[in-house]
Amino acid sequence: MKIVITGAAGFIGSHLAEALLQSGHDVVGVDHIGHRSDRLIKEDNLREALAHPRFRWTAADLLAIDLDALIADADAVFHLAGIAGVRGSWGASFADYLDANVLLTQKLLEACKRSSSLKKLVYASSSSVYGGGVGAVMSESSPTRPISPYGLTKLAGEQLCHVYYSQFGVPYTALRYFTVYGPRQRPDMGFHRFMKAALLGEPIPVYGDGNQTRDFTYVADLVAANVAAMGYPKHGTVFNVGGVETASVNEVLAAIERLAGKPLAIERLPAQPGDPYVTRADVALAQAELGYKPSVPLAEGMARQWEYIVRLYGGGGGSAGSVGGSEVKP
Ligand code: NAD
Repeated sequence: MKIVITGAAGFIGSHLAEALLQSGHDVVGVDHIGHRSDRLIKEDNLREALAHPRFRWTAADLLAIDLDALIADADAVFHLAGIAGVRGSWGASFADYLDANVLLTQKLLEACKRSSSLKKLVYASSSSVYGGGVGAVMSESSPTRPISPYGLTKLAGEQLCHVYYSQFGVPYTALRYFTVYGPRQRPDMGFHRFMKAALLGEPIPVYGDGNQTRDFTYVADLVAANVAAMGYPKHGTVFNVGGVETASVNEVLAAIERLAGKPLAIERLPAQPGDPYVTRADVALAQAELGYKPSVPLAEGMARQWEYIVRLYGGGGGSAGSVGGSEVKP
């Protein structure tokens, strides 16, 4: 199959590209790698895919290129490009979220509508479409009431997919990812920030009391769900994709302390608006329909991410190893 991945230089997109290449597919990866401050990390993410003969790389702003030409003969499109993260979505930067998460999705759907080869569009949605209740298990039939502008844009993207499916038959499946972690996790995400600070002996800012819990999904499990969604014969459906287990932020910090072998310098800060207190996925539907079964326990996944962080910032010789703990420059 010929497969297009938007956001291919990102955390999840780069893992997905490698898995699809390993399964024998031709992959076109697009990302605007040059635009963000974490260029070296993106280049590191892409290293393996770029070395593969069946990977075609396009560095471009998807909002500025001909999307019809991009997906012209694609059998499947994975739409992962977007701006992720709750905290940055307030204030003036909401306009960027609207462009990257809503307008871009609409433009891609217009191109999908006109495609004669497309068999599946897989849309990367988020648990943030649910908002966050205490003790709630989120199933696909739970109310969608985002509590952050980010969540709202992801829900809008999902609903746009449904509009184009119901009116034009665009064959989409949406996956609501629950906090994804593992090697290459974005530098703004919790495990990455905590592990980097633990390695470098820097203070670790923690928002809220630390008893907030997340359903943590290891990236390889998430990739397996994406691959299953590509082959799912029905369209117009949404699935939760969660992990093996949930944990609180305090439990995660204790695990990082064990990995680092030294006490952490935790700095408690007020809880942030838009951060749900609890996320917990009901994955029964994905299990029944996609055969999804997460398999990587948190301790194992965190150990793999710790190895990555040590390579990235500990001078271990990776291409971003030279970063040496300072901010990655564009
Ligand atoms: P990421 O930031 O690592 O990857 C997204 C990529 O999209 C980036 O590399 C970025 O450069 C690219 N991009 C954004 N706008 C673009 C544009 N206009 N043109 C070209 N490229 C563009 O993020 P990630 O964590 O890998 O997340 C991937 C997707 O999954 C996102 O849509 C995100 O909302 C969703 N998601 C992620 C998580 C998670 O826990 N990481 C949870 C829920 C949903």
